[in-house]
Amino acid sequence: MLPEAVMVQAKEEFLNWNEQGCSVMELSHRNQAFIEIAEQAEQDIRDLLNIPSNYKVLFMHGGGRGQFSAVPLNISAKDDSADYLITGTWSKSAIKEASRYLKTHESGCSSTDEEGLICVPNLKSGNLSSNSRYFHYCDNETVDGTEFFDFSLNTDVPIVADMSSNILSKPVDVSRFGVIYASAQKNIGPSGLSVVIVREDLLGQARPETPAILNYSLQAQNNSMFNTPPTYAWYLAGLVFKWLKAQGGVENISIINRQKADLLYAAIDENDFYLNSVSVPFRSRMNVPFQLANNELDSLFLAQAEEAGLLALKGHRSVGGMRASIYNAMPLEGVNALINFMNDFAQRNG
Ligand SMILES: *Cc1c(COP(=O)(O)O)cnc(C)c1O
Repeated sequence: MLPEAVMVQAKEEFLNWNEQGCSVMELSHRNQAFIEIAEQAEQDIRDLLNIPSNYKVLFMHGGGRGQFSAVPLNISAKDDSADYLITGTWSKSAIKEASRYLKTHESGCSSTDEEGLICVPNLKSGNLSSNSRYFHYCDNETVDGTEFFDFSLNTDVPIVADMSSNILSKPVDVSRFGVIYASAQKNIGPSGLSVVIVREDLLGQARPETPAILNYSLQAQNNSMFNTPPTYAWYLAGLVFKWLKAQGGVENISIINRQKADLLYAAIDENDFYLNSVSVPFRSRMNVPFQLANNELDSLFLAQAEEAGLLALKGHRSVGGMRASIYNAMPLEGVNALINFMNDFAQRNG
């Protein structure tokens, strides 16, 4: 979901952007007008996340999965090893891809507590291997619905975080990270773009065989315009950043995100009709998976939800059940509409 105000603005500007007589989509990335859009977007995300000046912000192709390869290619050599924390679907995909490029070590994985609820590992006890080049984890597991809070890990190796599904949803101390990356389509804008925040001292060590378009240094030297970037997605991301600033920035949206998630989890916990299998301290504020106690009602639930205008609630194919993704752009009213529907559905079918 994108903020409606952003979509309305994009629509109004679609045919004739800034009296240029053409769409942003038609501007060359070498055109000064587009370069200004691009630079403004970078400045706005820098402001929003308080990105220190010794970090580059790259706007790249290839989504989150592209970064699964780009990270090892840019900051390790073939004989190196790296630590991966395994907390769900996306960190599993990340380690699988990285294993093609270096030795990977699982430095911990999710477990279940006495009640059978999912817990993410304690990063402090992160069992790092001694010769690791970097530590990788996924800050929010989109499919499994777990998220890290109070993140802290004492290590000298760069920490690499996949924040595809929770970037800009809460304040982050960027200076603790070597690399933060995010595909755009969850909290930033449309698909086709990924944002990479990389500490400058990690540049310049890409392997010779690194594809040029995935090479951080090359992209940094070329202001992410080594080849044609996804220009329209970049422009829309810029509109989303402006919108976020108008919402009071990341500090404010994180309060709203907390409210939305608390309301939805309370609705799930209050009613035996619904279950969520993540231990409370690790529940994602962005992705709320839930099951019906009677899963024979799943398809009825989804069909009636859709009739009520509540879309995209089917859980990821690997886990089934339901999942409500309540990213920044989802208003409180949207969450309340879901809760009302859930209460109603439980009453009719309970
Ligand atoms: C969606 C997602 C990805 C993959 O993004 P693509 O752009 O489809 O490659 C990676 N990591 C996380 C956490 C995601 O949510």
